[in-house]
Amino acid sequence: MTERIYNFSAGPAVLPLPVLEEAQRNLLALPGVGMSVMEISHRSAPFEEIIHNAEADLRQLLNIPANYKVLFLQGGASLQFSMVPMNLLPKDGSADYILTGSWGQGAIKEAKKIGTVREAGSTAEGNFTRVTRQDELSLDPNAAYVHFTSNETIFGVEFQAEPEVGDVPLVCDMSSDFISKPIDVSKYGLIYAGAQKNVGPAGVVIVIVREDLLERVPKGLPALLDYRNLAEKESMYNTPPCFPIYISGLVFKWLLSEVGGLEKIYARNQEKAKILYDAIDASDGYFRGHSEPDCRSLMNVTFRLPSEELEKKFAKEATAAGLDGLKGHRSVGGMRASIYNAFPREGVVSLVEFMKDFAEKNG
Ligand SMILES: *Cc1c(COP(=O)(O)O)cnc(C)c1O
Repeated sequence: MTERIYNFSAGPAVLPLPVLEEAQRNLLALPGVGMSVMEISHRSAPFEEIIHNAEADLRQLLNIPANYKVLFLQGGASLQFSMVPMNLLPKDGSADYILTGSWGQGAIKEAKKIGTVREAGSTAEGNFTRVTRQDELSLDPNAAYVHFTSNETIFGVEFQAEPEVGDVPLVCDMSSDFISKPIDVSKYGLIYAGAQKNVGPAGVVIVIVREDLLERVPKGLPALLDYRNLAEKESMYNTPPCFPIYISGLVFKWLLSEVGGLEKIYARNQEKAKILYDAIDASDGYFRGHSEPDCRSLMNVTFRLPSEELEKKFAKEATAAGLDGLKGHRSVGGMRASIYNAFPREGVVSLVEFMKDFAEKNG
């Protein structure tokens, strides 16, 4: 099968078609190089150019201030759950975590193995149907950092603005809404994002870290877990994930030159999500959104049907109709439509038509 279907997968997820086409054209030989990007030394001039351009384009997209380092690392977002406290949580210190879903739970579990963790707010009661409000956070002004998850991929809840944490460094797992909208990087101490949701293929995680925080990194960490070492070596302490970095670079270029930047992709993302949430709201309760309306994710739209039987039928028939990957995560049940940057508007319209049709036939 060579025809592409609509891919609602939560991750690894859909990539922009022009990016895949360019990668395909240049797979056997990069222009002027005569070898595949997978076959050249990471110390070679062509690869140096690829990684430098990727970083420069990401800096332009997000308007990253000069006092931040950009790292391309391995181990996924999950390794950052450990690296953040290993590097930034002193032995006699404590870190605040805001819990709004399963990924936050994962981050807390790993951080507790390294040091002292406080829960500064949680929406676990009620099964994560919303994010925390500012007035319910109990923040420790002496915390080493405050960690939160900007978009909880499984539950489909997203912060509309970052929590206010005063002078304490804000650390964010931005894996599933990274570069989906403009953000003010200067509000953060550290941002990390696994690529395979909204950036590129699995195998690279992007870390953006304010330089002064690197001074906190304790001596004696294993080299590959030490932000200061990785920053000094410009992500090239050892062989970096060359191919995922190459594809991520193409995605940044696509966002800059074809889409026109993050304001533009944000408008597209808002429009796509509205089409879908409007259909849920107009279904007379047939479809029920998991998230409270003011916390709805623009990236992962989660909803239930009247019964589990109907949910199974929906997923099966949707797949047969060329709408793949809609089955939700088992902890929420129901459906999840992941509509990241690269997901086309027409696919959302097709899903909405399918939903209306399904509700009519199975009402
Ligand atoms: C997918 C995801 C992760 C885990 O990413 P890995 O790269 O598989 O470790 C962590 N956080 C969030 C928000 C995610 O969506």
